[in-house]
Amino acid sequence: MPVIAPDIAPNISGLRHEGAFEVLDRAAALAAEGRDIINLGIGQPDFKTAPHIVEAAVRALEDGHHGYTPPAGIPRLREAVGADLNERLGVAVDPSQVVIVPGGKVTMQMAILMFGRPGVEIVYPDPGFPVYASLIDYSGATGVPLPLLEQDGFAFSAEALLERITPRCRLIVLNSPANPTGGVTPKAEVDKLAAGLEDHPQVAVLSDEIYGRLIYDGQRHASLLAYPHLKDRVVLLDGWSKTYAMTGWRLGYGVWPPGLVDAAIRMAVNSYSCVNAAAQYAGIAALTGPQGPVDDMVSAFDARRRLAVEGLNGIPGLSCVMPGGAFYAFPNIAATGRSAKELEQALLERAGVATIAGTSFGAHGEGYLRVSYANSRAKIEEAMARIRDCLEGL
Ligand code: PLP
Repeated sequence: MPVIAPDIAPNISGLRHEGAFEVLDRAAALAAEGRDIINLGIGQPDFKTAPHIVEAAVRALEDGHHGYTPPAGIPRLREAVGADLNERLGVAVDPSQVVIVPGGKVTMQMAILMFGRPGVEIVYPDPGFPVYASLIDYSGATGVPLPLLEQDGFAFSAEALLERITPRCRLIVLNSPANPTGGVTPKAEVDKLAAGLEDHPQVAVLSDEIYGRLIYDGQRHASLLAYPHLKDRVVLLDGWSKTYAMTGWRLGYGVWPPGLVDAAIRMAVNSYSCVNAAAQYAGIAALTGPQGPVDDMVSAFDARRRLAVEGLNGIPGLSCVMPGGAFYAFPNIAATGRSAKELEQALLERAGVATIAGTSFGAHGEGYLRVSYANSRAKIEEAMARIRDCLEGL
């Protein structure tokens, strides 16, 4: 019998893998062979979830919370999200606008598929989280990259963004603090963008603020939710993964304009139904319980940020601007004469240090590497020594 390849829909080929998970797989394979690998590749806190959060999930299971929950999430969790946003950002969010999802990524998928279709343009950051471009291609929309530049500290330029909006544009994707650069867009620039969007009423915004609490040097996070004239077209993406060291729990949320909530809930019902109940109880404990563990983690990241940037700047061929948020440094590697992918491979295979090529985040990532400093000080120091030796030997 001839083997017939299953005839799947062609837009599936628009979906791509994520470089960070591929490097994680390769690093795990090398470690399984007995190699000593330092992982500065994957973007997740190296901290454990705080005990009171774990206990809340255990208690939920012991108390018999084993069934489905409402698709948009447990009401108390949606209320806790609203109260947290009110307290942190001073914005009024009605719990009915909050849709709990299995990880921040799901809000991204919902928003991009809600707006993306052939004939529509979506502006997205480059370098930026790779899933934006992947989902835009999958939707059939045309992606319009917005270059983020080292000379701007990898912040958005409102002017450059507004210039890219055409009558076909329906969505812009913003991310500050940013993956992969650690760039933070200053409030003045966000103000400028928000004002400029008044001229483009057909354009919605997906604001990915998942690193909003990982911000340093006394800066305040400038949220797109804070602009009343945009309240009918801003979708906020946030969640527990980074702030509460809960990447494996798969818990995130979207705050939707009232007119889009029903569409988001229909998308939920047609895929995952609802989020794991125990994880949602953990989410309530995270938001309403002590915030000391978050503050401690942010302080630890801040110290490691300085250590990593100082270390990178001390290596001939590398130079690195100080990132203002998240837990990534994005050193410029142009002076090494190697491409980002070549360097990623050489550092992993020869030096046992996992980093991610800037090109995994878009064409404008060429000439850079993403270095996650979500690792211990000792490992960061050891990694810097290994990178220096490896570059000298190339
Ligand atoms: N948005 C950005 C910018 C991220 O870096 C990530 C994860 O790395 C996500 C969203 C997805 O987060 P989650 O693990 O909650 O799906």
